[in-house]
Amino acid sequence: MLPLFLFEHAKYERSNTSCEGCYASKDNGTLVYDSGKIVVSVTKRNILDGNHFYILPKEHYVSTVDLEDDVYEEMNKIKNAFIELYSKQNKSILFFEVNKNEKHMTIGGIPMETNVVKNSRRLLQNSFDLNAEEGASSSFFKDLTEVPGGLRRFLRPGISYTWFGFDNEKGYAYRLNDPEDFSDDFYYSTICAEIDEDFDDMQLRLKLTPDVVKNNRDKLRSELETLLS
Ligand SMILES: [Zn+2]
Repeated sequence: MLPLFLFEHAKYERSNTSCEGCYASKDNGTLVYDSGKIVVSVTKRNILDGNHFYILPKEHYVSTVDLEDDVYEEMNKIKNAFIELYSKQNKSILFFEVNKNEKHMTIGGIPMETNVVKNSRRLLQNSFDLNAEEGASSSFFKDLTEVPGGLRRFLRPGISYTWFGFDNEKGYAYRLNDPEDFSDDFYYSTICAEIDEDFDDMQLRLKLTPDVVKNNRDKLRSELETLLS
C-alpha cells in the first residue's frame, strides 16, 4: 500500500509538454487508435518496412511497473487484439519495453513469422548474456514465468529494466545497471541483423515517406477497429 501522499501524487494529471510520447498521443500523423487510456501508433522509421507499431499510455507513465491497474488492463486488451490480428497471418509478435531515464512508457511490437520465434528468442537471450559478460549494460535476468504476478511484482518503480516476450508470454526481464549504455534500438538492431544479412545500424536512422506512413496507419486502423469494436 502506498503512503497517502504518494497515492495523491499519482492522481495528478499526467502529461508532459516536452515529451514525445505525450505528443504522439495528441497525434502527429501516426496515431492509429485511441481507447481513451491507451493509444496505438505506427512508426515513421524505415525499419522492417515500417511493419512494427507502438502501444503507449495516453498519459505520462514511465513503465509497466508504474501503470495503474485499469491502464494496465486496457494495455493487455489491446495487446491481445494485436495477437489475434497477426495470428490469422501465422505471425507472432515480439513485444518489448525499454524503461530508462523516466521516458514515456512505450511497448514496441514487431510482428514476425511464427517459425522464427524460437531462434529470435534465443538470439535475444544470447545478446543479453554477451552484454552481461562484457560487464556492459544488463544483468539480473529473470524468466518472468517464475515470478507470481510477473513484471509488475518483480521490480519496484524507479528501477531501469528492459523486458521482452512473444505474444502472451510473461517474457524475460533484465535489470539495466547502466541504462545509458543500453541502446533504445537494441531489439530492432538484433532482430534486423537476424532477418537481413545486409543490415547495418545506419538503416535505423532512415525515415519512411509520408505516404507509406499514412497507408500503414490507415490499414492498421481499420484492422484494429474491426477487432476492438
Ligand atoms: Zn509522456
